[in-house]
Amino acid sequence: MSGKKEKKVRIVDHRHCRICGKAIPPNQEFCSENCRSISERMEARQKRMRNLLIVMYVAVFLIIFIMLALRAGMS
Ligand SMILES: [Zn+2]
Repeated sequence: MSGKKEKKVRIVDHRHCRICGKAIPPNQEFCSENCRSISERMEARQKRMRNLLIVMYVAVFLIIFIMLALRAGMS
């Protein structure tokens, strides 16, 4: 029994760039300013899409509500 068994299964602390997937230090979110600006643009678009979706939901709800109200008024 002479072999020292060194267990070095330590996972190096790192994360991946959210845009291109490159390994980056854990205190960073993106690998470069370019990826940061891409992410910001994507987030802005997602926010706009979410607002649009909410507006559409409200519009559909209003249309259904008006149709039901009209039908109720007819009978
Ligand atoms: Zn990147």
